[in-house]
Amino acid sequence: MKENNENSWNDELKGRLKKRSQLEEYIELEAAQAAWFTQSEEKGDDILPFMTSRYYLETALAAGPDGRAAILRQIIPSAEEFVVKDYELSDPLGEAKYSPAPRLVHCYPDRALILVTDECAMFCRHCFRRSFTGGMKGALTDAELDPILEYFRCKPEISEVLLTGGDPLTLSDDRLKSIISRIKDVRPEMIIRLCTRMPVVLPSRITAQLVAMLGSYDGIWLVTHFNHPSEITIEAAGGIRAMRKAGVPVLNQTVLLRGVNDNLETLSSLFRRLLSKGVKPYYLFQGDLAAGTSHLRVPLEEALRLTAELKDLISGMAMPRFAVDLPGGGGKITLPSQHHQLEREGDFFTVKGLDNEQYRYPAN
Ligand code: SF4
Repeated sequence: MKENNENSWNDELKGRLKKRSQLEEYIELEAAQAAWFTQSEEKGDDILPFMTSRYYLETALAAGPDGRAAILRQIIPSAEEFVVKDYELSDPLGEAKYSPAPRLVHCYPDRALILVTDECAMFCRHCFRRSFTGGMKGALTDAELDPILEYFRCKPEISEVLLTGGDPLTLSDDRLKSIISRIKDVRPEMIIRLCTRMPVVLPSRITAQLVAMLGSYDGIWLVTHFNHPSEITIEAAGGIRAMRKAGVPVLNQTVLLRGVNDNLETLSSLFRRLLSKGVKPYYLFQGDLAAGTSHLRVPLEEALRLTAELKDLISGMAMPRFAVDLPGGGGKITLPSQHHQLEREGDFFTVKGLDNEQYRYPAN
């Protein structure tokens, strides 16, 4: 692994590109992309801003035509984001309904998640938590963590906690260590999942100090977010290797995205490559019904066909679980499922959520 230090990743974070003019130093914008920048000025704070690490943009430009297009589609906003379907939501997973304390979401009996920051190294155009991400709420404070730890004390059935946001690895090692230690003080057996895109978009964050700190705890799992094989660069693979060597297992969640990875060749290559780097493909997510993301979403009917074919093509180890988060708090279901049968009703599927209520999901 390249010797990264606290300063190099922090400098890279500070040097993220946030302006149209910076992006145009690298590429010429297409009409719909230019239109987003023009119209976004009128929309004010109500949109997910443009932001990327230089590293991720340069990864796109160094990739072949397919990888370049796939990565740029995740980086560069399009005016298509201003098209909001009537079934799309600002909180597509209904997390507010399951939030017993600020920054805490408890939807499943044995799992909870903490929104430890709204900072990211880049803003993914498909982000389902876009109304929180980049919202200037900043990092979790100790005053916010106190009631969360009290909640964990009273809920012994919670055995796993996800640190997410935003990207938890935008926090300093010291802050991360303090949050993990305080959780472990209250619940030593708690499994902690660190959900991060840093190995993909800013791999210099995976420093020897960070790896040593995370490796000093039991039960820490790194959950990355690779969406295309071209994202698995030498730097990204180096960070993963270091984590694994330190005893931190690595899983990956991919979002199925139109124009990024919605074909058998890309998905099979991505999952096989991840597996060869020691990363278990864990979930392939159907794109959530986040406002302004329909141009990136693969219709569910097509997604089901694609994943059925993929299952016949790759090994069981390489195949992730295909999951759909039902809108409005119906929970995550994996498909196909005997317990959650999809029924077609016109342009929608209806399906039983984890709470046994019926939920509707657009078929195409
Ligand atoms: S890194 Fe994660 S939280 Fe941040 S914008 Fe991307 S998907 Fe959203």
